[in-house]
Amino acid sequence: MLKLLSYLVNRKVATSKTLFAPLADGVRGLPMLSGEVCDETELAEIVAGCPTDALRFATNENGRRVLELDRGACIACGFCLDVCPSKAIKNDSESKIARRSRDELISRVELQEPHNGSNGKSDVSKQSTEAAQEKNVPTGTRPSDQHAPAKGLFERSIAIRVVSTGCSACDLEIGAAGNPIFDMERFGMHVVASPRFADVLLVTGPVPKAMHEPLRLCYEAMSEPRLVVAVGTCAISGGLHKDGYTQANGASAIVPVDVFVPGCPPNPWSIIDGIAMAMGRERLSK
Ligand code: SF4
Repeated sequence: MLKLLSYLVNRKVATSKTLFAPLADGVRGLPMLSGEVCDETELAEIVAGCPTDALRFATNENGRRVLELDRGACIACGFCLDVCPSKAIKNDSESKIARRSRDELISRVELQEPHNGSNGKSDVSKQSTEAAQEKNVPTGTRPSDQHAPAKGLFERSIAIRVVSTGCSACDLEIGAAGNPIFDMERFGMHVVASPRFADVLLVTGPVPKAMHEPLRLCYEAMSEPRLVVAVGTCAISGGLHKDGYTQANGASAIVPVDVFVPGCPPNPWSIIDGIAMAMGRERLSK
């Protein structure tokens, strides 16, 4: 008995004191646009090689050609990071990457005009949150005014139900978020066994056709107010499965999503950040 007590007293605390630590050196995160002006011909090969069209060319509201990066579609394969010659794309080691709207995951950089003597400055822009939320209502992003009922209500604690519809990598990271190192329970985030007791649904995987009805039923079994967090690229956009024969286009095709946590899979800190955002714990999630 004394031995056990001495072991417990002298044992070091494993729980991380640093909240939302950046990813360790050498760990691949999601790509981000560095803001460097880049040349379209130089990037054509990279855009063509992106397996999910997360990187694409587009035209902005001023009619200028832009490179667009959709982190909600990126599977973090690393191809663009490895081959980008101008370093227009770089590794993001930030762990606080959850966003409230789908469009906040999309960033853009203007491409170099041919022979225009560019001064090398660029404009990495994001569409406004409001416009994005408006635009995404039909595809399942909850309108901003409907986030209000949750404000304050879940700030101290929240009950979580996880619905897994895919490869389970994100499920492993959710499991890790509950281990002694990340210890999400210290922030009042508790996993429960039934949607009847849950305040928030964490959806992982691309939600194929076979899971459409179970996911809908699970959401309907929750009492109001209820929230949904899409965890990982598959749950956000379908990832590699998007528009395939399994009709796996992510959670927002079936239920309204409040928070998006990109990554393939996301780091446990990113998942905790997304849940904190759903709880309205701004100080924790900022
Ligand atoms: S890391 Fe993401 S954006 Fe880059 S090529 Fe792979 S899927 Fe596309």
